[in-house]
Amino acid sequence: MNTKKTSTFFLIITLFLCLSGCTSFNFNNKKTTNNLLKIHYIDVGQGDSILISINGTNMLIDSGSHEKEEYLITYLKKQKIKKLHHVIATHPHEDHIGSMAGIIKNFNIENFYGPKVVVNEKCFTSMVTELRKKHLKIQVAKVGKKIKIHPNIICEIIAPNNTSYENINNHSVVIKLTYGYTSFIFTGDAEKISENEMLKGSINLKCDVLKLGHHGSNTSTTDSFLEKTSPKIAIISCGKKNIFRHPNKKIVNKLKNKNIKVYRTDIDGNIILISNGNSIMKSEQ
Ligand SMILES: [Zn+2]
Repeated sequence: MNTKKTSTFFLIITLFLCLSGCTSFNFNNKKTTNNLLKIHYIDVGQGDSILISINGTNMLIDSGSHEKEEYLITYLKKQKIKKLHHVIATHPHEDHIGSMAGIIKNFNIENFYGPKVVVNEKCFTSMVTELRKKHLKIQVAKVGKKIKIHPNIICEIIAPNNTSYENINNHSVVIKLTYGYTSFIFTGDAEKISENEMLKGSINLKCDVLKLGHHGSNTSTTDSFLEKTSPKIAIISCGKKNIFRHPNKKIVNKLKNKNIKVYRTDIDGNIILISNGNSIMKSEQ
C-alpha cells in the first residue's frame, strides 16, 4: 500500500474502532493533546453553535439563540476559552446569532466574519452594536478565503457563492476544514440552491463529517450533495421536540440507508469529535 492508501485504511479502521466504542489514542495523556483538533457541536437547543479548538486557537461558528446565551457562555468558560480568534456568524437568524452580542461582550475576539447581508432584527442590531463597541468589523466571508487556525489545517470558505438570495438561509457561510486525512464541512442553514452552487464549484466536497444544513430539514442535504460529500458521520444540530419537526424523517432515513453514522444534539447532547489528522474519534465529554 502507498502512503495515501495506508492512511485511508488507517482512518477507516480507526473510525470503525472509535464508533464501536474503543479509543485509538489516549486523550488523557497531556502530551498527546498537542495538535489535537477538538470540535464541539454544542447543544444549544434549536440552533447551531460549534467550537473548534487546536493548540489554544479557537474558532466559534454561530452562537445559538438568545435563550441559550448563559449556557453557551458557561460552556465556553468551562473549556477555559478566553479568546476567540475567529468568530463566524453564518447568517443573521436568531437561532444562529441570538447570543452573539453576549459572546462579543464576554470574550476577546480577533476576527469576525459574516455574509454580506443586513437584516432589521434585534439579534442582528445588538450584535452590530457590540461589535462597534469593541471596534470590530464584520469581514465579508468570501468563497476561497482561508482562515488560519493551524499550520497543518486548511479552513476554507466554500459558500455563499452569490450575493443575493431570496432566502437568508442561502447566505449561510459554509466552511470546509481539512486536517491531514480528516475533513469536516459546516453548512449553517445552506439550502438546495447553495448546495447546488457548491456542487458546480471546483472545491472538493468530500468530507468525513458533515454538519447537515438547516437542522436536518428537507430544504437541504440533496441526494447529489450527500453523494459528493459522502460523509461517514452526519451531525444534526436541533432542539428536542422542536416545533419545526427537525430533522426531517426522510433525510434521517437517507443517512441510515447510506450507513452514515448520525449524531444529533437533541438526542446526544453536546457532541465532541477529536481529530489527530489521521483519524476521528468521539470524545465522551
Ligand atoms: Zn437555523
